[in-house]
Amino acid sequence: MRPIVQSSKLKNVRYDVRGPILVEAERLEAAGHRILRLNIGNPAPFGFEAPERILREMIHNLPSAQGYSDSKGINSARTAVARYYQGHDLDVSVEDVYIGNGVSEMITMVLQAFVDDGNEILVPAPDYPLWTAAVALAGGTAVHYRCDEGNDWNPDLDDIEAKITENTQALVVINPNNPTGAVYSEEKVKGLVDIARRHNLVLMSDEIYEKILFDDAIHHHTATYAGDDVFCLTFSGLSKAYRIAGFRSGWVMVSGPRDRAEDFLEGLTLLSNMRMCANVPAQHAIETALGGHQSINELVLPGGRLSAQRDTAYELLNAIPGVSCVKPRGALYCFPRLDPEVYPIKDDEQFVIDLLRAKKILVTHGTGFNWPDPDHFRLVTLPSVSDLEDAIGRIASFLQTLREV
Ligand code: PLP
Repeated sequence: MRPIVQSSKLKNVRYDVRGPILVEAERLEAAGHRILRLNIGNPAPFGFEAPERILREMIHNLPSAQGYSDSKGINSARTAVARYYQGHDLDVSVEDVYIGNGVSEMITMVLQAFVDDGNEILVPAPDYPLWTAAVALAGGTAVHYRCDEGNDWNPDLDDIEAKITENTQALVVINPNNPTGAVYSEEKVKGLVDIARRHNLVLMSDEIYEKILFDDAIHHHTATYAGDDVFCLTFSGLSKAYRIAGFRSGWVMVSGPRDRAEDFLEGLTLLSNMRMCANVPAQHAIETALGGHQSINELVLPGGRLSAQRDTAYELLNAIPGVSCVKPRGALYCFPRLDPEVYPIKDDEQFVIDLLRAKKILVTHGTGFNWPDPDHFRLVTLPSVSDLEDAIGRIASFLQTLREV
């Protein structure tokens, strides 16, 4: 019998962050072990509940949310998104907003509509790996530009310039960044936009963590600097700051010279139509979320739960010999480095599996984020301070055994 195989379109698609390590974690759980999962930025399982007014609004609208909506989204949600960016000095309207089942769907949809075989898309390293995978699925090549750990994980603008070829079509920016927690300065954002302007690249700016900012960090919307002359797609949504990852609600907003992009936008609308619409009940959360009180602020202020957890993780990781971690200024992660002189790790996926088996802690290996060297891992800072103390204590004791070899 002919084997049933996956399509050749998946040939270059890799998504290791949910690969063999997760399978091993599930096997251990099935065998009765309790695994502390520090591998996924999903706020709800760590006791971060959605603001009540968002739940109330969704419940209130549920009876009238049974049918398909307009494929680009319900009017109240699209208007709320447009108003939000108008408040950041952007000249956009309801027509510029597409609502999706989370940012994930919009990333895939935009890349399917935009990328042609052989196109090159500049993607940060490390990255949120959906970007690289979705570029490959669309037939393009993700060309990784380096973010510089020695410079607070800021993008290396010279490296970006050096990697531009005649096939380069777009520049992806992830700010605040997953997995590094970097929040780019105004100067860096301007530098990125300037590169796009000079090389005629489309900007794709993933800003899903824009409200998860610590200390004095300020988020700068890429689109603000792209102005009228650089075509920019801004992605954001409700999964993180509003803690409703499971409801699936996000958007992409178009700005800049739309007249030059009519053909692409027709393609994006075609793909939106093909999947009918995004989950309608979750669209009703958008207007309520974006207006009024922003409960995320209490979590990120000094002493707030997210900020206290970030501090704990950062301090305890840096206290381990041979481990260094740049202080995250936003998002929900630490991305520590394991000094290769102290820990000569050849295969970081195996390192994470060994840690999992020995200490029942699940983290994610750095190469899973398209980081080129096996010397980093990512830890989620969502667990409580006491769980983080326990987890990082176990990581420290595992690393001690490696130093003793
Ligand atoms: N973009 C980044 C940078 C993320 O870290 C994530 C989720 O972790 C997403 C997009 C996906 O978000 P959504 O839940 O809106 O699909």
